[in-house]
Amino acid sequence: MSRKPIIAGNWKMNLLQSEAKSLYEGIKSFVSNYNASQLPTVVIAPVFTSLSQVSPIACDCGCKGYKLSIAGQNCHWESSGAYTGEISVEMLADAGCSYVIIGHSERRQYFSESDEMINKKAKAILAGGLIPIICCGESLEQRESGITDSWIASQIRAALDGISSEDVAKSVIAYEPIWAIGTGKSCDAEEANRVIKMIRSVVSEVAGSSAAESIRILYGGSVKPSTIEEQMAKSDIDGALIGGASLSAESFNDIIEKTMKVAV
Ligand code: 13P
Repeated sequence: MSRKPIIAGNWKMNLLQSEAKSLYEGIKSFVSNYNASQLPTVVIAPVFTSLSQVSPIACDCGCKGYKLSIAGQNCHWESSGAYTGEISVEMLADAGCSYVIIGHSERRQYFSESDEMINKKAKAILAGGLIPIICCGESLEQRESGITDSWIASQIRAALDGISSEDVAKSVIAYEPIWAIGTGKSCDAEEANRVIKMIRSVVSEVAGSSAAESIRILYGGSVKPSTIEEQMAKSDIDGALIGGASLSAESFNDIIEKTMKVAV
């Protein structure tokens, strides 16, 4: 079956509201030239204070698709309450989000996010009708000691624990080797595809082959206009989660355009 590619920009902790607005306008004017059916699923994830500066753009051709979707960069699993500094799925939906990035290595590393927390967040996101983008990935040390596959398999099993096959099928996973994030050194496309195939086999084990065929699994880590075509040409890479290169409309739009040539 063919899976619609996703090109997602994770803006991380960057851009003031006016800057976010102008980047959004640059992407919006590009995607406006196409119908949703011609585009990959395009997602942008600004900081919370800039969510009001961006908004999802529904397609005008009657296909009910979106030309531009919005993601939160994190969420809490409770719907409201005494959780200072947190944000709920309902609040993100209210701000126009349809996706939420969870389990990013920066959150695991700097904010002690555990597999259990990521699982609770995934369940809350799906219960709220949004789609989780669940990140996983190994450190350089883990790769060098030969435990990449078992480490990632355990992250995926924990994140998907207790989630129905139907919900797994609509979820998104992003494989982001930590050593490739922000380093300019992208993982070799063949190796990224191998790991992503392995992730798909774990999904098949826990949620069945139909969910494994449907779930979209992205690659992230120093994705640039010069790397995207080779990555998107691989059998199991369904898109990209992009940091640095998503902060300029020129490079992000270039990545979308190249993806359309290879994979939509
Ligand atoms: P870079 O594209 O800057 O390497 O960041 C990748 C990433 O962490 C996306 O979530």
